[in-house]
Parts: sequence; structure tokens; C-alpha cells
Amino acid sequence: MASQQTNSSVADLLRPDVETRTVDEQLVCDRARWPEQIRYLFENSGFYRDKLTDAGIGTPDAAGALDDLRHLPFTEKDELRISQAEHPPFGIHLAADPRSIVRVYSTSGTTGDPVYMPVTAADLAMWIEISSRSYYAAGLRPGMKVVSTFNAGPFVAGASLDTMTKLGVTHIPVGTGNTARLVRALQLIKADALLCTPSYAAYLAEHLLKIGIAPDSLGLKRICVAGEPGGGETEFRGRIERAFGATMCEAMGIGDVSVSLWGECDAQQGMHFSGRDFVHVELIDPETGQPKPMEDGAEGELVYTALRREAVPLLRFRSRDHVRMWVSPCSCGRKTPRVRCIGRTDELLIVRAVNVFPSAIRDVVAGFAPRVSGAILIRPTVKGVRQEPPLPVQVELGEGEADDGALAAAIAAKVREVLIATIKVELVPAGSLGRSEYKTKLLDFTDAAEAPR
Ligand SMILES: [Zn+2]
Repeated sequence: MASQQTNSSVADLLRPDVETRTVDEQLVCDRARWPEQIRYLFENSGFYRDKLTDAGIGTPDAAGALDDLRHLPFTEKDELRISQAEHPPFGIHLAADPRSIVRVYSTSGTTGDPVYMPVTAADLAMWIEISSRSYYAAGLRPGMKVVSTFNAGPFVAGASLDTMTKLGVTHIPVGTGNTARLVRALQLIKADALLCTPSYAAYLAEHLLKIGIAPDSLGLKRICVAGEPGGGETEFRGRIERAFGATMCEAMGIGDVSVSLWGECDAQQGMHFSGRDFVHVELIDPETGQPKPMEDGAEGELVYTALRREAVPLLRFRSRDHVRMWVSPCSCGRKTPRVRCIGRTDELLIVRAVNVFPSAIRDVVAGFAPRVSGAILIRPTVKGVRQEPPLPVQVELGEGEADDGALAAAIAAKVREVLIATIKVELVPAGSLGRSEYKTKLLDFTDAAEAPR
């Protein structure tokens, strides 16, 4: 365990040997590991043996080197769902002896049966290692009192509980759904850090003011947010940090690959990749599927390939997470790639050839606080990605604020200036848009018509 004291001459990293490798040095390590991983897939995964053979790749040698990865097919979430439905309980993508499975997580299953995510003891230890790096980057240190609001239950976020033990923090799990209990815990235990979703941080700040408690009186030093995009948006982050008088850092995971795979340091210049040696990451153009060079400012979708994973080793798994990436060394000493999640690829709207993510609109609107509350709801008139301007957006007024006749136009003008997209703003009363203690819905297609064919 790294020391709690920071030595000014040595970067304070959990795994300096791994995290200070350059991107090129890491590539050398990943290339060396790859042949064993592709052999493992052919020997143990009926799913990949069939999938690769169908693609004309019948042997590990035919799959080529790691640098040939771009020629191998992607894996989509739906394929795992189908594999599981056809070969219950875990699908033919299970690549380990079922008796070696020590835990089975699952997705929330909003559509159909949940997808199970079994892990072996080695897989679980790997997840805890990865997630420890990410939360260490996000500022958690031994001895800190950390209150978490993860709705762990059957979900992979549960593995974060093991991570807290490994990091040596004093962990106070409170769960979701009981804000009164959370507030009391923060007051009584005098927690140093809070782990929650960005939505919940915003909700909590609003709620505290409503019940007459100044958020900064809680004495929180740090808020680590995860679970949805938005924690890195400038306006949003500034608002939460000012309210609580705390530093806010982001973490991001993906259940199928690893719990908390990225974590942001105090430089707040994007989340550091924390899965080195276990997961290989690619950036692709989501429309064409072609790899994009990983360089400062590059945008695209993250694609993950397991380098070590026993139960469910995924190959080129499409995350649907759309990010902006940086690879130049960070002032914290890490040389791992950094990302900011802009949105989910499946939430992308194209408004007359302009790409717009709902969370980007929310961030521009948040700049108008306190005249607005920060809550928005986009209500497209047609289903699908492609939208004709103006895109209808409901914007909630701030507490005690009224429509002055010019605010809606000012917001629409600012969105056009920053995002080049044309929206139509409808101001709605304070508190009228739904609040979530978990993830906030920014898109509502309820009233949308079928897209013209
Ligand atoms: Zn950093």
C-alpha cells in the first residue's frame, strides 16, 4: 500500500511502475501478452472460436498480432445477451469452469432478462486492483472516512465495496434512496469524501439548501462521482464544488469489462486509464468502426479487449461510451491515457449534421444558474438519431425565478454559439422536471413520432 504522505519528489501513485509507463512502453507490454490471450480464447471460449472462425480466422496464428486487432470483429452487448439466452445460464462466452465462478453480477435488466457477469477469484482480484488505481487517482487515501451511495445489490458497483477495503479507507456504505440517513451520516461521522452519481451530487446540494443546511457546512473535502457522464462538465463541476467547498473527481467503469476502469486526479484534466496490463483500449469512429489515432483531443468510442480475464474475456467490446482523449503526460506523474466521457453513443443526436450530446446541452444551460436549476429534458419530435432543428428542450427555472421573456432566447443563442445546434427552449417551473438519486434521464422520446423512412 502506498504511503499516505506525499513525497514531493516522487509522484503519489498507487502503481508508479505501471502508471508512469509511456503509451508506447505499454503497447510493448500488451503486444507481449496478446498471443497468450488469443490462444486462451480459441481454447476456452466456444463463442469466440465460432465467431472468429465465421470471420475466416480459424487459428490463434491467423488472428495475427495485437497490431492486427483492427481486423478482428467487434463484440456487441446484444451478442452476449443472445449467447446467454441460447445457452443458459451464462452463455457460450463463458470461458472458465463454472465451478470456478465465485460471484455473479448482473445488469439492471430494464429490457428482458438481466445479463449475468460471472467472475472467478482471479477476475475479482483484478477488478479490485483496477478500481483501486482509479479511486486512488480520484483522491481516496488510507484513513479517509468515505460515505458511498452505490446501489450495489446485484450490480458490478458492488465490487467497489471490496475496493474500499483494499484502499484502507473507513468506508460507510449508505446506499441510495435514503437522503435523510445520508445527511445524518455525513454530519455525525464527519466524512471526508462522498461517492455518488453526478445527478445525486446535484440533487443533494439542492435538497440541503431546501432543508436549511449549507452544503459546505458538512466539511466534505472530496466528492467522487461515477455512474453516468457529466461529472467532468465545467459548469456542472464548478457548481457542485462551490456548493460543497470540495474537490470533485470523476471515475468511470463498464460492467462487462471492469468496475471503475478510469479515475480522475486532482489535475482534473480527464480520467486516467487504470486497467493497464489487464485491458487493452482502442478508440474508434462509431459510424465507420475504424480505429482512430489516440492523440490529444481525439474523439470517438472506447473499445475494450481483455488481456487477462478468465470467466468472460471480451474481444473488441464496444462500450458505446463516446469520449475525448488525451495521451500527453499529466502533471500528477501518470502517463496513462485520459478521457472525458461526452455521452453515450446511443444518446447522440444529429441535428442537421451537427453532433450533439444531451449532457453538452445540459452543461451550457447550467451556465445560466441560478436563473435556471440546471435540470433539462430534451424532447425530440421524431424518433431516432437524426433530428431537424429546432430541437425542443425543456429548461427548468431556478427556485423563485420567473420567465422574464428573454431568458429562453438567451439560452438558445448560447447553445447555438457553443454547440452550433439550434434548439427551442421551453421554460418550465422550478422542481417540475424529475430528480433522480441515481441516473438522470436527459432524453424523452415519449411524444416523438416514428422517423420518416
Ligand atoms: Zn493526472
